Amino acid sequence: MFKSIRISRQILYLSLALVFSPAAGHAADDIRWQEVKGTHFLIYYVGEERFARDVLNKAEGYYSRIADELGYARYQWFWTWDNRCKIYIYPDHESFSKASLNQPGWAEGMAEYKSRSIYSYAWKEGFFESLLPHEMTHLIFRDFIGFPGEIPLWLDEGIAQWEEEARRPQMKAMAKKAYEESGFLTIKDIMQLDIRYLPSTENVYIRSALSRDGGPGVVLLSGENLIKTYYLEAVSMIGFMIERYGGETFTVFCRDLRDGKDFQDAIRAAYPNITGIKDFEERWKEYLDKL
Ligand SMILES: [Zn+2]
Repeated sequence: MFKSIRISRQILYLSLALVFSPAAGHAADDIRWQEVKGTHFLIYYVGEERFARDVLNKAEGYYSRIADELGYARYQWFWTWDNRCKIYIYPDHESFSKASLNQPGWAEGMAEYKSRSIYSYAWKEGFFESLLPHEMTHLIFRDFIGFPGEIPLWLDEGIAQWEEEARRPQMKAMAKKAYEESGFLTIKDIMQLDIRYLPSTENVYIRSALSRDGGPGVVLLSGENLIKTYYLEAVSMIGFMIERYGGETFTVFCRDLRDGKDFQDAIRAAYPNITGIKDFEERWKEYLDKL
């Protein structure tokens, strides 16, 4: 069956974390930054200090919560003094876009691992609920798990969205709906797909669908909807793992991936009662059914 789905852009915050590609980075700019300092963060801004102070207060609160949820509460000192995380708030989208290299046009913020920095601009709607916890999670996750190279994209984007705590109920509802409408791709497909290198968002993409009864099916998606579906499935898989089996087990799974196990082996090692990808997919579907 062919199925075309639409997913609201307003609810999903899409961003890509930057990895160590040589061209990636942040262009020099002639902005005269002002600074406010906190225990774990340095905020750079122009204009209104109040917004920067709000960012600092929120960021400190999210830091404790995210570290705690991922099972790293005892490493609270990690981002202090010279290791503080820097957050640059550009005055508007235009100046942010100009300064951020290598970002697709749809990105509104970015995290740069090497310099432990977050870049975005002063937008009110969604900044505190989405952008800030999302980009912070990219950095915390890499630091605490200690991935030396690339993190699997679905894992990195899934966990970053999961930590947008205020959006969880909406994301769960959207995931359930897309799954029930047979709009989801199989897990195997998600793992093989690298949305950073889609030839075009104008194309239409045909993929195998994740069907409720396990039978064959096809999903037909525009490039834009393929990206959104990818993000939605990623966050749903992370939600399933953390809600069903807890943050600490999730950490064990991530560390096994970091140490070179493939998905199947890492799942089996951390979750002894899950036998492999197919079994993982079945249990995730049960979780989606019960949402
Ligand atoms: Zn992201």
